[in-house]
Amino acid sequence: MPTYEYRCKDCATTFEVRRSMSESSDPASCPEGHDNTVKLLSMVAVTTGGDGAAAPMGGGGGCCGGSCGCG
Ligand SMILES: [Zn+2]
Repeated sequence: MPTYEYRCKDCATTFEVRRSMSESSDPASCPEGHDNTVKLLSMVAVTTGGDGAAAPMGGGGGCCGGSCGCG
């Protein structure tokens, strides 16, 4: 059975409730008995991308160093 994390807005307590997925959206009371709670997202969003292999192109041997006839 999954564990869901909730946070009480009244006493700022974060607590976990173990319940079935069908009951995950049901309101949960904090250990202090408050009903003003919100469900926290336990899954961290996965960020994609980030190809760190950007090799510089070219480099070395400018046009004027060769025989392309500038000047
Ligand atoms: Zn509370």
